[in-house]
Amino acid sequence: MNRSTSTNAIVLSLRPLGENNSSVTLLTPEDGIVYAVLYGGPKSRLRSLVAQWNSGKVWLYENAEKNQIKISDFEVKNFHESFGKNLYKLYAASLAAELAIKTKSAGSTEQCFNLVSGFLDGMELCDEAQCRVGLIRFLWRFLELLGVQPQSHACSSCGKPFLDSRFAPDAISYYNSMENSFICPSCGSAENAIPVSNAAVQYLSALTVLSPSEARKLSIDEETYGQIRQLVFFLIENSIEQKLNSIETGMGIL
Ligand SMILES: [Zn+2]
Repeated sequence: MNRSTSTNAIVLSLRPLGENNSSVTLLTPEDGIVYAVLYGGPKSRLRSLVAQWNSGKVWLYENAEKNQIKISDFEVKNFHESFGKNLYKLYAASLAAELAIKTKSAGSTEQCFNLVSGFLDGMELCDEAQCRVGLIRFLWRFLELLGVQPQSHACSSCGKPFLDSRFAPDAISYYNSMENSFICPSCGSAENAIPVSNAAVQYLSALTVLSPSEARKLSIDEETYGQIRQLVFFLIENSIEQKLNSIETGMGIL
């Protein structure tokens, strides 16, 4: 049976298919990753609309005999034009796309779409410094979607909440990879634990209770950012158990 449908979508990537056509990877709220064919050369109207990172409403035509989905129209709502002018944004967007593809939308297509879509739209409005912190928040929320976000609201040893703890911001807490949790400065270290400042754990803890708009208002200093970045990248690479090309090639940029 052949049918036409329309859905919201983000164009994650395009690659050439034959002489004039492209194979397009879309992220959608209902079906997660969708591979569709775009007919027409570089001069076609549709080709200029279906460009990487553009998002909006796509019309798809499913041909059951050919086992193929074709893009029949695309109404762009957000162009994300700044990604082509800023290397950091480009790599951060590629990382988000790669995560959505490799985790098959983390098993939650609608939430994954909303998370990636919010991240890309947010980056378009932000400068690079804001995007750096935005990527950390995105990855932390992606860990939650994958169901592997470490418990960060309280010390896993004594149960004291990190947010109202009286430890100095630079007091050392630990991430315990065996239990996927944090240990407060007074409970000390565990075997193979990764040291992180109390300020870093407090920031992550705050992210889990605040709305995205509230979380954007929190500020962190350069050192805390560096610690959280290292930890969150470690956790995300560990959780999907494969190398992420965008992190490998974006080394020194991301
Ligand atoms: Zn403790």
